[in-house]
Amino acid sequence: MPSPMSADRSSWPSRTHEAVTRMRRRHAARRGLTPADIAADPEYWIAGPGRVLAEATPCGHPGGYRLTDSCPACDADEETHR
Ligand SMILES: [Zn+2]
Repeated sequence: MPSPMSADRSSWPSRTHEAVTRMRRRHAARRGLTPADIAADPEYWIAGPGRVLAEATPCGHPGGYRLTDSCPACDADEETHR
């Protein structure tokens, strides 16, 4: 049975898309930001209002890097996922 969710996604009005984006940001903030969130949405977490939270969140690697820092371990992770 076809899923209406995936079938309609490309024709979603942009207002719905924005609501989904806001929801995703709120969810990420609540469960704790990860480098993947930053990579997926740098417009908000680096260049936007989300930066305050990203700056306050350690990336989890040794060295005391924050999510806004360019942590060598995070960079290495991203290379392997590519
Ligand atoms: Zn890191």
